[in-house]
Amino acid sequence: MNPVKTLWSLLFRLFPCPVPLGLHQVGSPGPDSPVLVTCNFHLTLQRLLRVLRRDGVDAWLLVAESRGVNVWCAAGGDEFNTHSVVSSVKTSGIANKVKHRRLILPPLAAPGVRAADVHDQTGWKVSWGPVRARDIAQYLSEGKKRDEPMMRATYDWKERLDTGLGSLFPFYLVGALGFAVLAPTLLPAYLWVAAACFVLFMLACPWIPGEHGLTKVLILDAALGLALLAGEILWPSGTFPARVHLVIAMVSLLVYGSELGGLASTMPSDLDPFMAKLGIGAVGNVAWAGTVRTELLNGYRELQLEHERCIGCRQCYQVCPLGVWEMGQDRRAVQARPQLCTACRACLVQCRSGAIQARPTRLGLEHGLG
Ligand code: SF4
Ligand code: SF4
Repeated sequence: MNPVKTLWSLLFRLFPCPVPLGLHQVGSPGPDSPVLVTCNFHLTLQRLLRVLRRDGVDAWLLVAESRGVNVWCAAGGDEFNTHSVVSSVKTSGIANKVKHRRLILPPLAAPGVRAADVHDQTGWKVSWGPVRARDIAQYLSEGKKRDEPMMRATYDWKERLDTGLGSLFPFYLVGALGFAVLAPTLLPAYLWVAAACFVLFMLACPWIPGEHGLTKVLILDAALGLALLAGEILWPSGTFPARVHLVIAMVSLLVYGSELGGLASTMPSDLDPFMAKLGIGAVGNVAWAGTVRTELLNGYRELQLEHERCIGCRQCYQVCPLGVWEMGQDRRAVQARPQLCTACRACLVQCRSGAIQARPTRLGLEHGLG
């Protein structure tokens, strides 16, 4: 693997880093070996191959089109979709390699790849594998059974630092360039304060009051603002020494916190619904205003289950990364923990009976949704 590409995809995850599509052989797979599917993002493929080889897995690995973006972001943006998987099944030659017709997909692909449509168009059945690559070996060795932790997304400190670094480093760099050009004497202060804020915020995130990224940083910024005010009062001559550091910390935290919801599958985005409310609905060809996800997050729509239409296929239960859905005694779905929903749309996309709908709320009707 190319180390420059690896470093690029690690630090600039906001930008695509594609690898060629096709079929990889992991270990010594045969005609009965499992067929795993992943995206064509360089870092994902590299990490997946490393984990599978380390764990001694023998499998076929299909790399499908996601425009060089990771599974979660590409599926949410419809770049990793049903067509990606269908075309990779049809063009890779996998049908000649195995006797079975079963694909294993990461469940974080569920907002983009519709399992029922893949089956209808190829005859291959989709099973949802574990959320994390490190659980694949156990999942396979236990007869493709997932326990609850394998099905649910997490966002622990390593994941926060990893995704945070990949998404926020470009912002850090832009800030450094700005200081280098406009205020070079303050550059050292910026470099260490912004970096320290990033590490501390990502590590301490779950314990900072507030439910989402933006609320958390607003609380922190309010505290830092009070410290700034206190400093100005205690040093009335206007030479409060930590003034610059506090301002840099407040701005850095605001950027980090606003991005946080977009990084994690366990948190709803703060930024998109906020921007949509401000009337900023798109940048370039990336739009968020008017999407079902943003309308769910803004409370204009809500997920509703039509119990009678549920056919008990369990797809919603299997793909929800937060465990919102349970299967009831009557083998139909129950919305057990709606408060955990991050509006990823995976259940909506997978429900082939139409039992799950995103219906307009009263607020949505007031805003013109039909
Ligand atoms: S209930 Fe919410 S979080 Fe779960 S799959 Fe559906 S939209 Fe995603
Ligand atoms: S609600 Fe839809 S996806 Fe969930 S079990 Fe019922 S039919 Fe399947």
